[in-house]
Amino acid sequence: MSECIFCKIINGEIPSDKVYEDEKVIAFNDINPQAPVHILVIPKEHISSIKEIDENNGDIIKHIHLVINRIAKEKGLDEKGFRIVNNCGEEGGQTVGHLHYHLLGGRQLQWPPG
Ligand code: 5GP
Ligand code: ZN
Repeated sequence: MSECIFCKIINGEIPSDKVYEDEKVIAFNDINPQAPVHILVIPKEHISSIKEIDENNGDIIKHIHLVINRIAKEKGLDEKGFRIVNNCGEEGGQTVGHLHYHLLGGRQLQWPPG
């Protein structure tokens, strides 16, 4: 049994507020939202971070981006804009070791982040 909390969400061991699912990815609302829309988009395959992406598994990144576009449209973010964030490693602020993209929107976002 995996100890990864996002694998547990994928398996249904931990409940989540799912907004999208297909055979390769799921997307769910972040438990600690930083914007009116804050959704995590993750591959169902356990990939620990963007560092694990290479030529052999890179198709998932394209797929995640297409899913993000679809969700952004569904949430009405495509007109005003949105942000996608991937935190990688300790200094990158990654706290969950399962590849995930944050989709943030619904308010004016500041740049650069802290
Ligand atoms: P990171 O800091 O690794 O880039 O992002 C991890 C994100 O996962 C954080 O925004 C955090 O709020 C979210 N998160 C952590 N545990 C859970 C959980 O059990 N359920 C949900 N929905 N989000 C979680
Ligand atoms: Zn995992």
